[in-house]
Amino acid sequence: MKYYTLRHKDVAHVAASSDGKRAYILRAFKTMNVLLLRGHDGTIPPLSEAVELDSPNVEILSPIPHPRQDVICLGINYADHAEEAACFDKEAFSKDRPDPIFFSKRVNYSQGTGDIIPMHEDICDSPDYEAELGVVIGREACRVKAEDALQYIFGYTIVNDVSARNLQTKHKQWYCGKSLDGFTPMGPCIVSADEFDGIPKLDIRTYVNGELRQSSNTGNLITGIPEIIEILSSGMTLSPGTIIATGTPSGVAMGMDPPRFLKDGDEVICEIEGIGRLVNTVRKSFREADD
Ligand code: MG
Repeated sequence: MKYYTLRHKDVAHVAASSDGKRAYILRAFKTMNVLLLRGHDGTIPPLSEAVELDSPNVEILSPIPHPRQDVICLGINYADHAEEAACFDKEAFSKDRPDPIFFSKRVNYSQGTGDIIPMHEDICDSPDYEAELGVVIGREACRVKAEDALQYIFGYTIVNDVSARNLQTKHKQWYCGKSLDGFTPMGPCIVSADEFDGIPKLDIRTYVNGELRQSSNTGNLITGIPEIIEILSSGMTLSPGTIIATGTPSGVAMGMDPPRFLKDGDEVICEIEGIGRLVNTVRKSFREADD
């Protein structure tokens, strides 16, 4: 099942779709966070209102516009990205670590597909994209072993872990450079875990203005999803609704020579097989008309 948050007739709803075309509004759940806390077995109640997802009257929002907690992120979790990041700034991105790097990302508001990524050009000179598989936790996870981790996953989405590289390196810790408003587009939907056979190995790609920049497979994660959940939950309870961004493959702008950071008007498409496409356009935060 594909779960959406969408706006229909000026009201935001949670909706479920089996085909990604027609979605049924789930009125029992005011928000996706409520659905994740209470759980959902994929059943569509009789007489549920249906909407066509490509209708001009339907706006697809981020599946979780207001995450209940910061997004938990993995840094340097694809080997090829480790190499390009170390070339950009060896001190900030050293890959000489035996254990995964975790950091968090504040998300006041996650925008959905079709929305703008603001550049924050007054403080950020190097906006960059990072396509990532987002894991959404559906059951309280405490001291979960890797072999049991799948039972705690509600589903998967696409996260663009937009990053201000100058702030990420300037402040040593990555929190500030990752947490600017509008830097966490997500969507277009959450695909429930039962749609996949075990832990999925999915092609992941990013296009900027149609040019393929990132291309890998989530099977190439250095620390896999079950191990991530085991490590995190060994001392930190993961609540339903927790979002884990599992890291990005190579091909980000800072890894290019010279770096080709995002600029005003760029269209960024993050795509993951079986989930869909997350499409966003980069815009200056301060337009001339605002001066
Ligand atoms: Mg990232």
